[in-house]
Amino acid sequence: MSIEFEFSEEQQALRESIRSFLTKEVVPIVAEMDATEEFPAATVGRMQEEGYFGVPVPEAYGGLGLGKVAYCILLEELGRVDASHATIVGAHTSLGTTPLLYFGTEEQKQRWLLPAAKGEKLLAFSLTEPGSGSDSGSLTTRAERAGDRFILHGSKLYVTNGREADTVVVLALTDPAQGPNGGVSAFLLDKGTPGFSVGRCEKKMGLHGTSTAELILDGVELGPEHLLGELGKGFSIAMTALDVGRVSLGAASLGALEAATEGALAFAKERTQFGRPIVEYEAIQFKLADMAIHAQALRYLVYNSAARQDRMGVDPTRWSRVDRAAKTREAAVVKCLASEWASEGIDEALQIHGGIGYIRGSPIERAYRDARIAQIFEGTNEIQRLVIARDLIARGL
Ligand SMILES: Cc1cc2nc3c(=O)[nH]c(=O)nc-3n(C[C@H](O)[C@H](O)[C@H](O)COP(=O)(O)OP(=O)(O)OC[C@H]3O[C@@H](n4cnc5c(N)ncnc54)[C@H](O)[C@@H]3O)c2cc1C
Repeated sequence: MSIEFEFSEEQQALRESIRSFLTKEVVPIVAEMDATEEFPAATVGRMQEEGYFGVPVPEAYGGLGLGKVAYCILLEELGRVDASHATIVGAHTSLGTTPLLYFGTEEQKQRWLLPAAKGEKLLAFSLTEPGSGSDSGSLTTRAERAGDRFILHGSKLYVTNGREADTVVVLALTDPAQGPNGGVSAFLLDKGTPGFSVGRCEKKMGLHGTSTAELILDGVELGPEHLLGELGKGFSIAMTALDVGRVSLGAASLGALEAATEGALAFAKERTQFGRPIVEYEAIQFKLADMAIHAQALRYLVYNSAARQDRMGVDPTRWSRVDRAAKTREAAVVKCLASEWASEGIDEALQIHGGIGYIRGSPIERAYRDARIAQIFEGTNEIQRLVIARDLIARGL
């Protein structure tokens, strides 16, 4: 087991250039985006031009070819600035490009992955349904065979990027008798396909720049070239993508915690009560110390997991059982701790701000609303604990 980790000079330079890009281009629009609840099309477009929608994808398929560590640097920096932008990139990259890169045919990579990684097309991922959330294997959307084609019927819920995406990776039942293992398949569904429409978009407490859409599939006919990976292997494809997503989500939560800590520290140095800056009171110092402890621990956890995913590579047929299990457990640990410590730290940062932290429009107020979802999506933290416990029982500590 390796726990040593250092960023290369290239990775540090990438962080600096992302930070200066985001400071210049994204920071100025975030408060307005949050207030208007509109998808930030202009900044997403600029990020696509910069290559930020294909960071871990190999250059041969239109990406920057920088791997998962660099991708987590991007997500950490995005998390510092705005959770909506982080979520838009994460849904596209972790959940959209991963299934294509790991399981797609060469033709599918050329047709769907290349433009997605180049930033010309936006992706989404759709597993959840009205009746199946945590129990995602109990989905009911059907993909019935009609010769070598498939006819899809059903409805999907809570799809991030669902309203804007050019293509959605959709999970559907191809063999109900077999259930999730063997009976679920993944499909590439393009906007504009007859029978496919976007339904309701949810109003949310946070992530105001993202769409969270219902998708309606009413007799959508897809040819065999739209089947992603092997027939019946969709559930494991989805879980593999979610392992990537959970680590990058951890990176975004880490960034949010860091920004909250820095913001609270700066405020505590400025704000004077009882004749002294409040940073001089131990009650405040201990809150800041706990935030720093968690941020430091998360940095190791996130980047160690991302480095493992880089070492394992993008060909699942080459992974050992032990590597697979370790990767999945690690991703669950990162997701749980990062989402909980970020919410906790942001709550304390808001407390340090006192009343002004509760006033609409302050960065800490937005961060507080945005952070909460990380304990719920990409598998709730209860489900992550089940994943961890099952592996603990099977393989020990
Ligand atoms: C803003 C947002 C964006 C999203 N984006 C996407 C997306 O892009 N694609 C997509 O497919 N989905 C997406 N989702 C869906 C998300 O992944 C689900 O909401 C989540 O997995 C939980 O499912 P659920 O909401 O049905 O809750 P439920 O599964 O109904 O859970 C309710 C509660 O019961 C608990 N629970 C359930 N089963 C157990 C158990 N066995 N043991 C202990 N506790 C249990 C849960 O942890 C939770 O606390 C998104 C959701 C939101 C809100």
